Amino acid sequence: MADNDIYWNPILETLPREKLRVLQLKKFQRIFKWAYDNSPFYREFYGNAGIEPGDIKTFDDIRKVPKVEKSLLRDIQTKEPFPYGTILSVPIENVTEYHQTSGTTGQPVYQADTWQDWEWCAETWAYILYAQGYRNYDRVFIPFGYHTAIAYWMGHYGAEKLGCEVVPGGVLNTEARILKIQEVRATAIMATPTYILGMADTARTKLGIDPAKDLNIQKITVAGEPGGSIPTTKKRMEEAWGAKVYDHVGATEFGAWSYECTYQSGLHVNEAFFLVEIEDIDTGELITEPGRRGKMIITTFDRQAQPCVRFDSKDIIEWSPDECDCGRTFRLIKGGVVGRADDITKVKGVLLAPTSIEEVVRSIPQLGDEYEVLVTKKGDLDDITLRLELVPGQEDNTDAARKVLVDQLRIKTGLGYNLEFHEYGSLPRYELKAKRFKDMRPKEH
Ligand SMILES: [Zn+2]
Repeated sequence: MADNDIYWNPILETLPREKLRVLQLKKFQRIFKWAYDNSPFYREFYGNAGIEPGDIKTFDDIRKVPKVEKSLLRDIQTKEPFPYGTILSVPIENVTEYHQTSGTTGQPVYQADTWQDWEWCAETWAYILYAQGYRNYDRVFIPFGYHTAIAYWMGHYGAEKLGCEVVPGGVLNTEARILKIQEVRATAIMATPTYILGMADTARTKLGIDPAKDLNIQKITVAGEPGGSIPTTKKRMEEAWGAKVYDHVGATEFGAWSYECTYQSGLHVNEAFFLVEIEDIDTGELITEPGRRGKMIITTFDRQAQPCVRFDSKDIIEWSPDECDCGRTFRLIKGGVVGRADDITKVKGVLLAPTSIEEVVRSIPQLGDEYEVLVTKKGDLDDITLRLELVPGQEDNTDAARKVLVDQLRIKTGLGYNLEFHEYGSLPRYELKAKRFKDMRPKEH
Protein backbone atom coordinates (compact mmCIF):
# COMPACT_ATOMS: atom_id res chain seq x y z
CA MET A 1 0.00 0.00 0.00
CA ALA A 2 1.41 3.35 -1.00
CA ASP A 3 2.24 6.02 1.51
CA ASN A 4 -0.73 8.37 1.75
CA ASP A 5 1.37 11.50 1.94
CA ILE A 6 2.37 11.29 -1.70
CA TYR A 7 -0.84 12.78 -3.08
CA TRP A 8 -1.68 16.45 -3.34
CA ASN A 9 -5.34 15.41 -3.52
CA PRO A 10 -5.68 11.92 -2.01
CA ILE A 11 -9.36 11.61 -2.97
CA LEU A 12 -9.20 12.57 -6.63
CA GLU A 13 -5.85 10.93 -7.36
CA THR A 14 -7.04 7.53 -6.11
CA LEU A 15 -10.68 7.72 -7.20
CA PRO A 16 -11.90 4.34 -8.54
CA ARG A 17 -12.04 4.55 -12.32
CA GLU A 18 -15.80 4.12 -12.62
CA LYS A 19 -16.27 7.13 -10.33
CA LEU A 20 -13.62 9.06 -12.25
CA ARG A 21 -15.58 8.44 -15.43
CA VAL A 22 -18.78 9.79 -13.85
CA LEU A 23 -16.87 12.89 -12.72
CA GLN A 24 -15.37 13.35 -16.20
CA LEU A 25 -18.77 13.15 -17.90
CA LYS A 26 -20.23 15.73 -15.49
CA LYS A 27 -17.28 18.04 -15.97
CA PHE A 28 -17.41 17.64 -19.75
CA GLN A 29 -21.11 18.53 -19.77
CA ARG A 30 -20.37 21.59 -17.66
CA ILE A 31 -17.52 23.00 -19.80
CA PHE A 32 -19.37 22.18 -23.03
CA LYS A 33 -22.41 24.12 -21.83
CA TRP A 34 -20.17 26.94 -20.60
CA ALA A 35 -18.51 27.25 -24.01
CA TYR A 36 -21.83 27.01 -25.84
CA ASP A 37 -23.48 29.65 -23.65
CA ASN A 38 -20.60 32.12 -23.43
CA SER A 39 -18.43 31.96 -26.53
CA PRO A 40 -19.83 33.28 -29.83
CA PHE A 41 -17.33 31.08 -31.69
CA TYR A 42 -18.37 27.84 -29.98
CA ARG A 43 -22.08 28.70 -30.27
CA GLU A 44 -21.77 29.00 -34.04
CA PHE A 45 -19.34 26.07 -34.36
CA TYR A 46 -21.66 23.70 -32.49
CA GLY A 47 -24.74 25.18 -34.15
CA ASN A 48 -23.27 24.31 -37.56
CA ALA A 49 -22.59 20.77 -36.34
CA GLY A 50 -26.17 20.47 -35.04
CA ILE A 51 -25.18 19.70 -31.45
CA GLU A 52 -26.14 21.41 -28.20
CA PRO A 53 -25.54 20.82 -24.47
CA GLY A 54 -28.62 18.61 -23.95
CA ASP A 55 -27.24 16.12 -26.50
CA ILE A 56 -24.36 14.98 -24.27
CA LYS A 57 -26.01 12.35 -22.10
CA THR A 58 -23.43 9.57 -22.03
CA PHE A 59 -19.68 9.26 -22.21
CA ASP A 60 -19.92 8.06 -25.81
CA ASP A 61 -21.83 11.23 -26.80
CA ILE A 62 -18.63 13.21 -26.20
CA ARG A 63 -17.27 11.80 -29.47
CA LYS A 64 -20.03 13.65 -31.38
CA VAL A 65 -18.62 17.03 -30.37
CA PRO A 66 -16.53 18.46 -33.24
CA LYS A 67 -12.82 18.99 -32.64
CA VAL A 68 -11.04 22.34 -32.52
CA GLU A 69 -7.67 22.88 -34.22
CA LYS A 70 -4.99 25.46 -33.65
CA SER A 71 -5.41 26.85 -37.19
CA LEU A 72 -9.03 27.63 -36.27
CA LEU A 73 -7.86 29.63 -33.25
CA ARG A 74 -5.69 31.85 -35.44
CA ASP A 75 -8.74 32.77 -37.52
CA ILE A 76 -10.92 33.32 -34.44
CA GLN A 77 -8.31 35.68 -33.02
CA THR A 78 -8.63 38.08 -35.95
CA LYS A 79 -12.09 38.93 -34.56
CA GLU A 80 -13.19 41.04 -31.57
CA PRO A 81 -12.52 41.33 -28.69
CA PHE A 82 -8.84 41.96 -29.44
CA PRO A 83 -6.61 39.98 -29.20
CA TYR A 84 -8.48 36.81 -28.17
CA GLY A 85 -11.46 36.93 -30.54
CA THR A 86 -14.79 35.17 -30.28
CA ILE A 87 -13.53 32.19 -28.29
CA LEU A 88 -13.36 34.43 -25.23
CA SER A 89 -16.07 33.34 -22.80
CA VAL A 90 -15.78 35.97 -20.09
CA PRO A 91 -15.97 39.79 -20.20
CA ILE A 92 -12.51 40.95 -21.30
CA GLU A 93 -12.09 43.04 -18.16
CA ASN A 94 -12.04 39.78 -16.16
CA VAL A 95 -8.86 38.62 -17.94
CA THR A 96 -5.81 38.95 -15.71
CA GLU A 97 -3.17 36.78 -17.44
CA TYR A 98 -1.79 37.17 -20.95
CA HIS A 99 0.37 34.49 -22.58
CA GLN A 100 1.05 33.37 -26.11
CA THR A 101 2.49 30.44 -28.00
CA SER A 102 5.95 30.99 -29.44
CA GLY A 103 4.67 31.58 -32.96
CA THR A 104 7.62 29.83 -34.61
CA THR A 105 5.24 27.99 -36.94
CA GLY A 106 3.06 31.00 -37.75
CA GLN A 107 1.08 33.70 -35.98
CA PRO A 108 1.22 33.31 -32.19
CA VAL A 109 -1.93 32.07 -30.48
CA TYR A 110 -2.99 34.26 -27.55
CA GLN A 111 -4.10 32.74 -24.27
CA ALA A 112 -6.36 34.56 -21.84
CA ASP A 113 -6.91 33.49 -18.24
CA THR A 114 -8.96 34.99 -15.45
CA TRP A 115 -7.58 35.03 -11.93
CA GLN A 116 -9.81 32.04 -11.14
CA ASP A 117 -8.34 30.19 -14.14
CA TRP A 118 -4.86 31.09 -13.05
CA GLU A 119 -5.44 29.74 -9.56
CA TRP A 120 -6.65 26.55 -11.19
CA CYS A 121 -3.45 26.46 -13.30
CA ALA A 122 -1.41 26.71 -10.10
CA GLU A 123 -3.49 23.86 -8.66
CA THR A 124 -2.70 21.61 -11.65
CA TRP A 125 1.00 22.27 -11.06
CA ALA A 126 0.66 21.58 -7.35
CA TYR A 127 -0.41 18.03 -8.32
CA ILE A 128 2.71 17.69 -10.46
CA LEU A 129 5.19 19.03 -7.95
CA TYR A 130 3.76 17.25 -4.91
CA ALA A 131 3.83 13.95 -6.85
CA GLN A 132 7.50 14.62 -7.65
CA GLY A 133 8.39 15.05 -4.00
CA TYR A 134 8.38 18.85 -3.73
CA ARG A 135 7.51 20.00 -0.23
CA ASN A 136 7.38 23.32 1.62
CA TYR A 137 11.06 23.09 2.64
CA ASP A 138 12.23 23.10 -0.99
CA ARG A 139 13.92 26.11 -2.52
CA VAL A 140 13.07 26.04 -6.20
CA PHE A 141 15.16 27.89 -8.76
CA ILE A 142 13.46 28.67 -12.07
CA PRO A 143 16.00 29.51 -14.82
CA PHE A 144 13.49 31.02 -17.20
CA GLY A 145 13.19 34.45 -18.82
CA TYR A 146 9.68 35.20 -17.44
CA HIS A 147 8.39 36.53 -20.75
CA THR A 148 5.23 36.07 -22.83
CA ALA A 149 5.59 32.27 -23.21
CA ILE A 150 3.69 30.37 -20.53
CA ALA A 151 6.65 27.98 -19.92
CA TYR A 152 7.33 27.87 -16.14
CA TRP A 153 4.97 30.65 -15.07
CA MET A 154 2.48 28.04 -13.87
CA GLY A 155 5.27 26.06 -12.22
CA HIS A 156 6.25 29.18 -10.30
CA TYR A 157 2.73 29.67 -8.92
CA GLY A 158 2.25 25.92 -8.33
CA ALA A 159 5.46 25.72 -6.29
CA GLU A 160 4.38 28.71 -4.20
CA LYS A 161 0.96 27.17 -3.70
CA LEU A 162 2.43 24.12 -2.02
CA GLY A 163 4.66 26.29 0.13
CA CYS A 164 8.04 26.12 -1.62
CA GLU A 165 10.30 29.13 -1.73
CA VAL A 166 10.74 30.19 -5.34
CA VAL A 167 13.85 31.93 -6.66
CA PRO A 168 13.16 33.48 -10.09
CA GLY A 169 16.08 33.03 -12.51
CA GLY A 170 14.81 35.86 -14.72
CA VAL A 171 17.21 37.73 -16.97
CA LEU A 172 20.39 36.13 -15.60
CA ASN A 173 22.64 34.37 -18.09
CA THR A 174 23.46 30.69 -17.70
CA GLU A 175 26.64 31.20 -15.68
CA ALA A 176 24.97 33.66 -13.30
CA ARG A 177 22.08 31.23 -12.86
CA ILE A 178 24.41 28.39 -11.88
CA LEU A 179 26.19 30.61 -9.38
CA LYS A 180 22.84 31.67 -7.92
CA ILE A 181 21.77 28.02 -7.59
CA GLN A 182 24.98 27.42 -5.68
CA GLU A 183 24.69 30.58 -3.58
CA VAL A 184 21.10 29.99 -2.38
CA ARG A 185 21.57 26.18 -2.15
CA ALA A 186 18.52 25.54 -4.34
CA THR A 187 17.08 22.03 -4.01
CA ALA A 188 15.07 21.88 -7.24
CA ILE A 189 14.95 23.37 -10.73
CA MET A 190 12.59 23.30 -13.70
CA ALA A 191 13.66 23.71 -17.33
CA THR A 192 13.72 21.97 -20.72
CA PRO A 193 15.94 18.87 -21.00
CA THR A 194 18.12 20.76 -23.46
CA TYR A 195 18.72 23.55 -20.99
CA ILE A 196 19.27 21.17 -18.06
CA LEU A 197 22.06 19.48 -20.03
CA GLY A 198 23.36 22.82 -21.31
CA MET A 199 23.56 24.28 -17.79
CA ALA A 200 25.50 21.24 -16.57
CA ASP A 201 27.91 21.63 -19.48
CA THR A 202 28.42 25.35 -18.79
CA ALA A 203 28.94 24.63 -15.09
CA ARG A 204 31.67 22.12 -15.82
CA THR A 205 33.44 23.82 -18.72
CA LYS A 206 33.14 27.51 -17.81
CA LEU A 207 32.92 27.53 -14.01
CA GLY A 208 34.67 24.33 -12.97
CA ILE A 209 31.55 23.35 -11.02
CA ASP A 210 30.36 19.74 -11.06
CA PRO A 211 26.59 20.02 -10.50
CA ALA A 212 26.39 16.46 -9.15
CA LYS A 213 28.98 17.14 -6.45
CA ASP A 214 29.06 20.88 -5.89
CA LEU A 215 25.37 21.78 -6.01
CA ASN A 216 22.44 20.72 -3.85
CA ILE A 217 19.81 20.02 -6.53
CA GLN A 218 17.78 16.92 -5.61
CA LYS A 219 14.97 17.00 -8.12
CA ILE A 220 14.46 18.45 -11.56
CA THR A 221 11.19 18.89 -13.37
CA VAL A 222 11.54 19.00 -17.13
CA ALA A 223 8.99 20.09 -19.71
CA GLY A 224 8.75 21.51 -23.21
CA GLU A 225 10.59 18.66 -24.97
CA PRO A 226 10.29 14.86 -24.90
CA GLY A 227 13.71 14.25 -23.24
CA GLY A 228 12.29 13.54 -19.76
CA SER A 229 10.59 10.42 -21.12
CA ILE A 230 13.54 9.25 -23.22
CA PRO A 231 15.51 6.89 -20.92
CA THR A 232 18.97 7.73 -22.30
CA THR A 233 18.41 11.50 -22.08
CA LYS A 234 16.93 11.17 -18.60
CA LYS A 235 19.97 9.15 -17.47
CA ARG A 236 22.33 11.85 -18.78
CA MET A 237 20.47 14.55 -16.88
CA GLU A 238 20.29 12.53 -13.65
CA GLU A 239 23.99 11.71 -13.79
CA ALA A 240 25.02 15.28 -14.64
CA TRP A 241 23.11 16.73 -11.70
CA GLY A 242 23.11 13.83 -9.23
CA ALA A 243 19.36 14.41 -8.98
CA LYS A 244 16.08 12.72 -9.86
CA VAL A 245 14.53 13.95 -13.10
CA TYR A 246 10.77 13.94 -13.56
CA ASP A 247 8.87 14.65 -16.73
CA HIS A 248 5.81 16.79 -17.26
CA VAL A 249 3.94 17.63 -20.46
CA GLY A 250 1.65 20.58 -20.87
CA ALA A 251 0.74 23.25 -23.41
CA THR A 252 -0.32 26.88 -23.47
CA GLU A 253 -3.80 26.23 -24.85
CA PHE A 254 -4.83 23.37 -22.60
CA GLY A 255 -2.57 23.39 -19.57
CA ALA A 256 -0.60 21.00 -17.39
CA TRP A 257 -2.29 17.72 -18.24
CA SER A 258 0.28 15.10 -17.24
CA TYR A 259 3.02 14.34 -14.75
CA GLU A 260 5.48 11.72 -13.75
CA CYS A 261 5.51 10.73 -10.08
CA THR A 262 8.50 9.63 -7.96
CA TYR A 263 7.88 6.02 -9.08
CA GLN A 264 8.93 7.06 -12.61
CA SER A 265 6.62 4.63 -14.41
CA GLY A 266 5.42 6.98 -17.14
CA LEU A 267 3.25 10.09 -17.26
CA HIS A 268 -0.01 10.11 -15.31
CA VAL A 269 -2.80 11.96 -17.07
CA ASN A 270 -4.51 14.26 -14.58
CA GLU A 271 -7.94 12.84 -15.34
CA ALA A 272 -9.70 14.89 -12.68
CA PHE A 273 -8.94 18.04 -14.71
CA PHE A 274 -8.56 16.79 -18.27
CA LEU A 275 -10.15 14.34 -20.67
CA VAL A 276 -7.55 12.73 -22.91
CA GLU A 277 -8.74 10.74 -25.92
CA ILE A 278 -6.32 9.00 -28.29
CA GLU A 279 -7.39 8.72 -31.93
CA ASP A 280 -5.94 6.73 -34.78
CA ILE A 281 -4.23 9.27 -37.06
CA ASP A 282 -5.60 7.80 -40.29
CA THR A 283 -9.05 6.49 -39.34
CA GLY A 284 -9.99 8.70 -36.37
CA GLU A 285 -10.95 5.54 -34.45
CA LEU A 286 -10.78 5.84 -30.63
CA ILE A 287 -7.83 3.95 -29.13
CA THR A 288 -8.35 2.74 -25.58
CA GLU A 289 -5.92 -0.17 -25.51
CA PRO A 290 -2.23 0.19 -24.62
CA GLY A 291 0.61 -0.02 -27.12
CA ARG A 292 -1.03 1.72 -30.09
CA ARG A 293 0.05 5.23 -30.99
CA GLY A 294 -2.40 7.91 -32.00
CA LYS A 295 -2.98 11.63 -31.64
CA MET A 296 -4.28 13.21 -28.50
CA ILE A 297 -7.63 15.01 -28.39
CA ILE A 298 -7.86 16.90 -25.13
CA THR A 299 -10.51 18.73 -23.11
CA THR A 300 -9.64 21.03 -20.22
CA PHE A 301 -12.52 20.84 -17.75
CA ASP A 302 -12.18 23.87 -15.51
CA ARG A 303 -10.41 26.70 -17.34
CA GLN A 304 -13.08 29.12 -18.42
CA ALA A 305 -11.84 32.28 -20.19
CA GLN A 306 -10.82 30.45 -23.34
CA PRO A 307 -12.40 27.00 -23.18
CA CYS A 308 -10.47 24.10 -24.67
CA VAL A 309 -13.03 21.49 -25.68
CA ARG A 310 -11.88 18.49 -27.72
CA PHE A 311 -8.73 20.22 -28.96
CA ASP A 312 -6.84 18.31 -31.64
CA SER A 313 -3.36 18.62 -30.14
CA LYS A 314 -1.56 16.61 -32.88
CA ASP A 315 0.63 15.20 -30.09
CA ILE A 316 1.42 11.52 -30.59
CA ILE A 317 1.01 9.42 -27.45
CA GLU A 318 0.09 5.89 -26.41
CA TRP A 319 -1.48 4.34 -23.31
CA SER A 320 0.87 2.35 -21.11
CA PRO A 321 0.08 -1.31 -20.35
CA ASP A 322 1.28 -0.70 -16.78
CA GLU A 323 -0.30 0.59 -13.61
CA CYS A 324 1.86 2.72 -11.36
CA ASP A 325 2.81 1.40 -7.91
CA CYS A 326 2.08 4.83 -6.43
CA GLY A 327 -1.60 3.92 -6.18
CA ARG A 328 -2.88 6.74 -8.38
CA THR A 329 -5.77 5.63 -10.55
CA PHE A 330 -4.91 8.25 -13.20
CA ARG A 331 -3.94 6.33 -16.31
CA LEU A 332 -0.34 6.31 -17.56
CA ILE A 333 0.96 7.12 -20.99
CA LYS A 334 4.17 5.50 -22.11
CA GLY A 335 7.22 7.32 -23.43
CA GLY A 336 5.69 10.81 -23.15
CA VAL A 337 4.82 12.71 -26.31
CA VAL A 338 6.81 10.87 -28.97
CA GLY A 339 6.22 13.40 -31.73
CA ARG A 340 3.56 15.42 -33.46
CA ALA A 341 1.17 14.31 -36.16
CA ASP A 342 2.55 17.10 -38.36
CA ASP A 343 6.26 16.41 -37.82
CA ILE A 344 6.32 12.63 -37.64
CA THR A 345 7.09 12.78 -41.29
CA LYS A 346 7.82 10.08 -43.74
CA VAL A 347 11.48 9.94 -44.69
CA LYS A 348 12.40 7.51 -47.48
CA GLY A 349 8.87 6.15 -47.05
CA VAL A 350 9.46 5.30 -43.37
CA LEU A 351 7.57 6.97 -40.49
CA LEU A 352 10.21 8.69 -38.39
CA ALA A 353 9.74 9.79 -34.77
CA PRO A 354 12.53 12.26 -33.89
CA THR A 355 12.56 10.90 -30.31
CA SER A 356 14.03 7.60 -31.60
CA ILE A 357 17.10 9.46 -32.92
CA GLU A 358 17.54 11.23 -29.60
CA GLU A 359 17.32 7.94 -27.73
CA VAL A 360 20.19 6.53 -29.80
CA VAL A 361 22.42 9.64 -29.72
CA ARG A 362 22.15 10.02 -25.96
CA SER A 363 22.99 6.34 -25.39
CA ILE A 364 26.51 6.77 -26.80
CA PRO A 365 28.95 8.15 -24.21
CA GLN A 366 31.43 9.52 -26.78
CA LEU A 367 28.78 11.91 -28.10
CA GLY A 368 27.89 15.32 -26.70
CA ASP A 369 24.32 16.27 -25.79
CA GLU A 370 23.61 18.34 -28.89
CA TYR A 371 22.68 17.03 -32.31
CA GLU A 372 20.77 18.12 -35.40
CA VAL A 373 18.76 16.19 -37.97
CA LEU A 374 18.51 17.59 -41.47
CA VAL A 375 16.16 16.10 -44.05
CA THR A 376 16.71 17.26 -47.63
CA LYS A 377 15.87 16.07 -51.10
CA LYS A 378 18.48 14.92 -53.59
CA GLY A 379 16.69 14.57 -56.90
CA ASP A 380 13.66 12.45 -56.09
CA LEU A 381 15.19 10.87 -53.03
CA ASP A 382 15.10 11.90 -49.38
CA ASP A 383 18.44 12.39 -47.77
CA ILE A 384 18.94 12.48 -44.03
CA THR A 385 21.94 13.93 -42.26
CA LEU A 386 22.72 13.66 -38.57
CA ARG A 387 25.11 16.29 -37.16
CA LEU A 388 26.82 15.36 -33.92
CA GLU A 389 29.48 16.55 -31.53
CA LEU A 390 32.15 14.38 -29.94
CA VAL A 391 32.89 14.96 -26.27
CA PRO A 392 36.36 16.58 -25.95
CA GLY A 393 39.05 13.92 -25.73
CA GLN A 394 36.98 11.39 -27.70
CA GLU A 395 38.24 12.41 -31.18
CA ASP A 396 40.11 9.11 -31.55
CA ASN A 397 36.91 7.18 -30.93
CA THR A 398 34.97 8.55 -33.91
CA ASP A 399 34.97 5.21 -35.70
CA ALA A 400 33.66 3.34 -32.67
CA ALA A 401 30.88 5.91 -32.18
CA ARG A 402 30.07 5.78 -35.88
CA LYS A 403 29.68 2.02 -35.86
CA VAL A 404 27.30 1.98 -32.88
CA LEU A 405 25.33 4.86 -34.38
CA VAL A 406 24.85 3.18 -37.74
CA ASP A 407 23.69 -0.08 -36.16
CA GLN A 408 21.42 1.46 -33.53
CA LEU A 409 19.84 4.01 -35.88
CA ARG A 410 19.10 1.21 -38.33
CA ILE A 411 17.44 -0.85 -35.58
CA LYS A 412 15.49 2.02 -33.93
CA THR A 413 14.45 4.03 -37.01
CA GLY A 414 14.93 1.72 -39.98
CA LEU A 415 16.97 4.37 -41.84
CA GLY A 416 20.52 5.07 -43.00
CA TYR A 417 22.05 8.50 -42.27
CA ASN A 418 24.93 10.69 -43.42
CA LEU A 419 26.86 11.24 -40.21
CA GLU A 420 28.73 14.49 -39.65
CA PHE A 421 30.95 15.02 -36.62
CA HIS A 422 31.34 18.66 -35.63
CA GLU A 423 33.62 20.40 -33.20
CA TYR A 424 32.38 20.34 -29.61
CA GLY A 425 30.36 23.47 -28.89
CA SER A 426 29.70 24.33 -32.56
CA LEU A 427 26.06 23.18 -32.86
CA PRO A 428 23.38 25.64 -31.67
CA ARG A 429 22.48 25.75 -27.94
CA TYR A 430 18.95 26.52 -26.76
CA GLU A 431 17.35 27.90 -23.59
CA LEU A 432 13.78 26.78 -24.22
CA LYS A 433 12.65 24.27 -26.84
CA ALA A 434 15.42 23.05 -29.12
CA LYS A 435 14.85 22.97 -32.88
CA ARG A 436 16.81 19.89 -33.80
CA PHE A 437 14.68 18.36 -36.53
CA LYS A 438 14.93 20.38 -39.74
CA ASP A 439 12.86 19.26 -42.67
CA MET A 440 14.26 21.22 -45.64
CA ARG A 441 12.33 19.32 -48.33
CA PRO A 442 10.11 21.41 -50.59
CA LYS A 443 6.47 21.11 -49.52
CA GLU A 444 4.42 19.09 -51.95
CA HIS A 445 1.25 21.12 -51.61
ZN1 LIG B 1 2.64 7.03 -10.14
